[in-house]
Amino acid sequence: MAEAPPRLEIRNITRQFGGRKVVDDVSLSVAPGEVTCLLGPSGCGKSTTLRIIAGVDMQNSGEIYIDGKLICDTQFRVPPERRSVGMMFQDFALFPHLSVAQNVAFGLTKSRRAERAARVHELLTRVGLAHYADEYPHALSGGEQQRVALARALAPRPGIMLMDEPFSGLDNRLRDDIRDETLAVLKEEGTAVLLVTHEPEEAMRMADQIVLMRDGKVVQRGAPYNMYNAPVDRAAAAFFSDLN
Ligand code: ADP
Ligand code: MG
Repeated sequence: MAEAPPRLEIRNITRQFGGRKVVDDVSLSVAPGEVTCLLGPSGCGKSTTLRIIAGVDMQNSGEIYIDGKLICDTQFRVPPERRSVGMMFQDFALFPHLSVAQNVAFGLTKSRRAERAARVHELLTRVGLAHYADEYPHALSGGEQQRVALARALAPRPGIMLMDEPFSGLDNRLRDDIRDETLAVLKEEGTAVLLVTHEPEEAMRMADQIVLMRDGKVVQRGAPYNMYNAPVDRAAAAFFSDLN
């Protein structure tokens, strides 16, 4: 039997702004239930890559595949809402006028009412916030709001979760716990995760696979400890040395 295709695969993605290649021939793949970290210093092209996968920006060349099916090249483009992709950002932006439960239900307008309520309850229980279902976002701490944002992003069962520095707005004290909880929930749901971060420590903690970017290009990829133990060059070594 042929091996299952990756949940997400991008091939040779390039994006130019004003003649400058900010994403330069980037390829990567993510399997279901796996976390891939796109790691690199600020300005290296991580967010641009993520936006292209989400469908809110467009590559100049290269292809995107989901479950082995082409969803975007320069001729053809499946719109963002039909890509089965969830997103989380640093600014989690819950809707302030909706309750916690209504926030989580937001992407579920197509399901029947009883199913919707069951899914909202399941997710709020999973992130430990079922007792806050009827509260409004302003009553919650930053960490709690982040967990609601995770539940909201997962509600429609996206096959892929794109996360752009989702933990950087959080208190240091909370961050490790929230990273671990988020990871546990994503693994339970079997979601393929592409996590963007500029922090090697976050990549080491969360990734199954790290893709290291610099100046728009992939310079190294591998399992976290291999990257740490055998950096490809001095700059990669210096980047990882922050960890000590
Ligand atoms: P990162 O997320 O790794 O910090 P970005 O993908 O946000 O990097 O940006 C990569 C580079 O592309 C930066 O130099 C940024 O200024 C530039 N860039 C991003 N979006 C645009 C745009 N819409 N127009 C022009 N330049 C852009
Ligand atoms: Mg960014």
